[in-house]
Amino acid sequence: MDELTAIGRARRLVAGISSAPVDAYGLATAHGMEVKESDQLGEGEAGNTFRKGTKTIIVVNKNNHPFRRRFTVLHELAHHFLELPSKHGASIPSSDLERFVGRPPEEKMCDVFAAECLVPAHLIRPLTDSPFSVKTVQRLSDDFEASRPCIASSFVRSCPNPIAYVFAENGRISNVLTSAALREHRVFIQDGRLPSSSAAARALANDTSSENAELDGTDWSSSDAADQFVCTEEALHLRGWKQTLSFLTFERVGSARHEVAEPDESEELLPELTGHLPWPKK
Ligand SMILES: [Zn+2]
Repeated sequence: MDELTAIGRARRLVAGISSAPVDAYGLATAHGMEVKESDQLGEGEAGNTFRKGTKTIIVVNKNNHPFRRRFTVLHELAHHFLELPSKHGASIPSSDLERFVGRPPEEKMCDVFAAECLVPAHLIRPLTDSPFSVKTVQRLSDDFEASRPCIASSFVRSCPNPIAYVFAENGRISNVLTSAALREHRVFIQDGRLPSSSAAARALANDTSSENAELDGTDWSSSDAADQFVCTEEALHLRGWKQTLSFLTFERVGSARHEVAEPDESEELLPELTGHLPWPKK
């Protein structure tokens, strides 16, 4: 199974849901799982699962943030629903969820499935008219009861504009998501260190919780096409974890050379259609 299949199956599962927040526990229960909460789990444990007769019981850590608990439930539903064997055994390490580095593909796929259920594409798509900003991501996080990284990735997948989301830990980029529009423009963002001019690098260096920057497309991308873009970045810094979330919006400014070379359509097409030269413009 690949990621697109997991996304497709999650989308079918939540297609009938008409408003946020999604009833995560209800979805799991509807698929024969039982959800319990416990404050007896270890600090680093998001939850665990076990079977009791024919039933699968999910126990989530009551000490985790409620949004995290919802995600944990849907991650476990993914293992069950997609029939993907768990690589973490019965216990789910809290630090692993929504992480991108060094995890088995099955686990990443279960996260992708969980995110698609928590933030259904058909519900977030109409909301992607809003600027891709710290404020928007925070508001949607409250509405969908989902983490900010989860909202940011769903937003980028659904947005028709050239935007990108970059997640970094300790200044090293560990996840990049670009919207379809940005990829069509052939602007790509490489892994590696955060660009030194970026708002995220500044937030990390100054230990501030958020920063903004007005940049050139080439600050973030070494693609040839990037020099036709400017880039607005809003960065969030989760200070305890040295993690940064960059919300990038690209805007095409073109190049003078390009604009002069563009043919005027009306002049080009008319002779072809009529076989006669058009009246000269005065
Ligand atoms: Zn798992």
